[in-house]
Amino acid sequence: ADGVAQVHVAIMADKVQPVILAVGSGKGGVGKSTLSANLAVALARLGRKVGLVDADISGPSQARLLGTEGQRPVAHENRLVPVASRWGVPMLSMAQLTEPGAAIAWRGSMVAGAVTQFLEAHWDNAEIIVVDLPPGTGDVQLTMLQKFKPTGAVIVSTPQDLALMDAARAVSLFEKGGVPVVGVIENMAGYACPHCGEVSDPFGVGGAEAAAAAMGLDFLGRIPLDIAIRRESDAGNPIAAGDGPQVQAFLALATRVND
Ligand code: ADP
Repeated sequence: ADGVAQVHVAIMADKVQPVILAVGSGKGGVGKSTLSANLAVALARLGRKVGLVDADISGPSQARLLGTEGQRPVAHENRLVPVASRWGVPMLSMAQLTEPGAAIAWRGSMVAGAVTQFLEAHWDNAEIIVVDLPPGTGDVQLTMLQKFKPTGAVIVSTPQDLALMDAARAVSLFEKGGVPVVGVIENMAGYACPHCGEVSDPFGVGGAEAAAAAMGLDFLGRIPLDIAIRRESDAGNPIAAGDGPQVQAFLALATRVND
C-alpha cells in the first residue's frame, strides 16, 4: 500500500499545470461555443491532451455540442470528475448538472463557485483546458482573471462592425487582466451555397482580420458559415472530428493555437 501511496505522491508532485485557453467573444451568437468545441477536438486530433470547461453557466451548450447530454459527472474526493466525450475531450458543463431547459438564474458568487468546481475538477494529465466563456465581460470573466488566470485567450467574432466593436471590448478586458490574447478567429465568414457552391458574404469578409491588425493582434483564421457546421453541432458531432471540408480549417486553427 505504501508503494501505491508513494507513486500517487510522485504523480501529484509531477503534475503539469495545464495551459488554460479561454475562448471569448464580445457578444453571443457569433459561434464561440461551436468554435471552442471544434478547437478542442482539433487540438485532440493533433495529439494534445485536451479538456473542455463550459464556463457559460447560464447558457451551457457544450453537452449538446460534444454529444454528452444526460451524462452526469461523479465526484471523487470532493472534486468533480469530467465526463468523457466520444471525441477524446473530457468536459464539464452546467448542462451535466441540471435538467435540460431548466433556467439557471444564479447570483454572481454561485456562478463563480460553479466555475471554480469545473476548473478544480480531476483534469488529471490534461495539457490544455479550453474554457468556453460566456459572451461579454461579466462575473465568469472576472473569476477567470482573478482565480484561474488563463494562459491565453482567443477571441471569436463575426465580420460585422458591431460584433468587432464588442470583440474589442473583450480584448481589452483580457489585456487589462494581463492575459495575452493569442489572436482573433473570424467565424461565419462567407456562406457556401449548399446547392451551387457559390460563396457569398452576408456579413462581409475580412473585417475581423482588419480589426485584429488594427488592434495589433494575430489573425488565426476564418471559418465560413456552413450549414453542415450547424447541423452536425446540433447532432453532437463536432465537425472537426469528421472528414468534411471544414476539417482542415479547424486543424489549421488548432495548429496555430498549439504553436
Ligand atoms: P455563441 O457561443 O457565440 O453564442 P454558438 O456557438 O452557440 O454561438 O453558435 C450560434 C449558432 O450558430 C448555433 O446554432 C451554431 O450551430 C451556429 N453556428 C456557429 N458557427 C457556425 C458556422 N461557421 N456555420 C454555420 N453555423 C454556425
